[in-house]
Amino acid sequence: MAAELSDTLRDETVGLLQELIRLDTVNPPGNETRAAELLRSYLEANGVACELFAKVPDRANLVARIPGGDGPALLLLSHTDTVLADASEWLVDPWSGELRDDHVWGRGALDMKGQVAASAVAMASLAREGFRPSGDLIFAAAADEEVGEDFGLQWLVREHPDAVRAEYAINEGAGDRLELGGRVLYLCSTAEKMSAPFRLGVFGRSGHASMPGIADNALVKAAGLIEALAAYEPERSLGPETTALLEALTGETASGVDEALARARAVHPLAGALVEPLLSLTLSPTMAEASQKRNVIPARCDVTVDCRLLPGQLPADVEPLLRDVLGDGTYSLEWIEAYGGTRSTMESPLWDAVAGFVEAIEPGAMAAPVMVAGFTDSHWLREAFGTVAYGFFPMRTMDPELAARLVHSADERVHVADLGLGVSFLRHAARAVLG
Ligand SMILES: [Zn+2]
Repeated sequence: MAAELSDTLRDETVGLLQELIRLDTVNPPGNETRAAELLRSYLEANGVACELFAKVPDRANLVARIPGGDGPALLLLSHTDTVLADASEWLVDPWSGELRDDHVWGRGALDMKGQVAASAVAMASLAREGFRPSGDLIFAAAADEEVGEDFGLQWLVREHPDAVRAEYAINEGAGDRLELGGRVLYLCSTAEKMSAPFRLGVFGRSGHASMPGIADNALVKAAGLIEALAAYEPERSLGPETTALLEALTGETASGVDEALARARAVHPLAGALVEPLLSLTLSPTMAEASQKRNVIPARCDVTVDCRLLPGQLPADVEPLLRDVLGDGTYSLEWIEAYGGTRSTMESPLWDAVAGFVEAIEPGAMAAPVMVAGFTDSHWLREAFGTVAYGFFPMRTMDPELAARLVHSADERVHVADLGLGVSFLRHAARAVLG
C-alpha cells in the first residue's frame, strides 16, 4: 500500500496543533477539558462521534470512534497535558503556537500535541472519505500522562474499559530516523523498561563535626555503598526486540551479548550507546541527603537510586542481587514505586503496517524495534487488555538529537513536514490494519 503525503492534511494538522498549543494544559493542574472540547467540536464537525469521560470536570479524556465490523480494533492514543514552561527561557511565547521557519512552536509541539492533532486529522479525513473499517478505529486523547494521578488512561482503562479496549494501539515513544554506518532506521518502540527507583537509608551516629572520632558518619558510609552500586555490572541478556534491533543495525544475527554489543559499537559509537542500556537493568544513584548543618555529623544519609528493569524483571527478583552488591552494613532498602516494564510482540499486522510505511517513504530504510527507558500510557493497555501497543510517530526532517533536547525544554517545536508525515502514517496504519 502506498503512503500518500498530502499538503492539505498537513496544513489541517498545523492549524489544529496551533489551536491545541494555545490552550494551556500544563499539568498540574492540567485543565485538559479545554483540549477535549476543542477536539470534540473539530471531530463532530467532520462526522466523528465523540464522548468525554472525566473523573473531575476539568480533566476530561476524549474518546472518538469510527465504528467498524467485528474485526480487531485499532486505537490511536495520545495525551493532551504538557509539562510546564518558563516563558522567559523561550524565543516565542510557549502558548503562541507560532508558525516560524516551517516549525510550529510551543509547549507540547513534540510531546505530544503534534501527534494529538495528527491523530484527530487522520480520524476526520478518514470519516470524510467514508472509510468503513473492519474493526473500530478509536482515538483517545487522554489527560494526565505527565503526572499520572489517576485522571487519565489508567482511570479510563479501569472505569470505562469498553471505551478504549483495542487489540492494537499506536502511541508516543519513538519514530526517530537514525542514520548509522550507512543504514537508515526508523525506531518503533515495542517495549518499555520498568521504572523502579529505590531509596537507601544509611545509618550511623551523629556527633560534632570537630570531633569525627566520636561519631559514625552516615554520609561517609553511604559513599562506599554508592561506589559499590556504580561498580556493579549486572548480568546482560538479549530480549527479542534488542535482538531484532541489533540485526537491523548490523545486518547480522549475533550469537551472544558481548559479540552483539561489539558489533553495534563497530557500526557506530552511538549504536553501542543506544543498545547498552537495553541489555540489562541500570542503576544510577541520583540524590543524596544527609546532615542539615555543616558542623553536625549525620546519623542518617538517604540515597535515591534511579533503577530501570527489563520487562519481566521485578523488584523482588532484583533485591537479593542488590543486597549482595551492598554487602553487610546498617542500611535499609525501600522501593519507592514500580511502573511499566511491558512489551508487545513484533509479529502483528500493526508491525507490518509500520514496516510497510517506512519502506514506502524511504526505499532501503528499515523499521527497527526499540525498548525505551521510560514508560508511557501503553503499559496500561498492555496490562489491561493485552493490546499490541507501539510508540511510533515518524520524524525525518527534524534531527532526532535536537528533538530529544527540546522535549520538556525551552523552544519546543515541530517541523510541519514531520506533521504531514505523521498524519500520513496514521492514515496508512488505519487502512492497513482495518482495511
Ligand atoms: Zn508524552
